[in-house]
Amino acid sequence: MTDREILDWFEKACAFHHKKAPGLAIGAAMVAACEERLGEVKDKVNAICESTSCLCDIIQVMTGCTLGNRYLKTYEKLGRYALTLYDRADGRGVRASIDISKISAEKTPELYNFFMRTRSAEVKAGGEARRKSGEQVVKEFMSVRQEIIKLENVWLDKFGKGDMLPAAPCVNCGESFLRSSSEEKCGVCSGEMRYYRPG
Ligand SMILES: [Zn+2]
Repeated sequence: MTDREILDWFEKACAFHHKKAPGLAIGAAMVAACEERLGEVKDKVNAICESTSCLCDIIQVMTGCTLGNRYLKTYEKLGRYALTLYDRADGRGVRASIDISKISAEKTPELYNFFMRTRSAEVKAGGEARRKSGEQVVKEFMSVRQEIIKLENVWLDKFGKGDMLPAAPCVNCGESFLRSSSEEKCGVCSGEMRYYRPG
């Protein structure tokens, strides 16, 4: 994919994300690299995002793998800035990550600081400084993207359509919920997933 095409996806993803995040440009190049290496698939392309971050949004915009259609899964606990695209038919996949060791602090200082989380306090505070820094991060990234994106061929341990859990009404609240075990109460009524209290 050309720089222009990657930057077009970046713009589209910024609109979806409602924020101009440099990580979206980096993610766009990572997705493009995975797609190119993966090539033709036998079934649908599915995706794993190794964190819940802006990377999820670029995956959704570019690949059509979404949380809603369940072609995208996120591993929030893993927390790595990486993704895998794979063929749902046989689990053949390509994983993309960033090789931090190849980012030069001299040649691409803002990109380096972005990944090391060492951008200036002024930048961290937001506003104009943050916007400018973001533009610089994207510019530096585009000049070295081929060298710092690391691709790996992988085979997924689990792949395929996945089970659709049966839905049944909760014996306490009566709302229909997806039952993953023999528990007859939904996660809120059982207390396991309670996140609100009555107002
Ligand atoms: Zn309930």
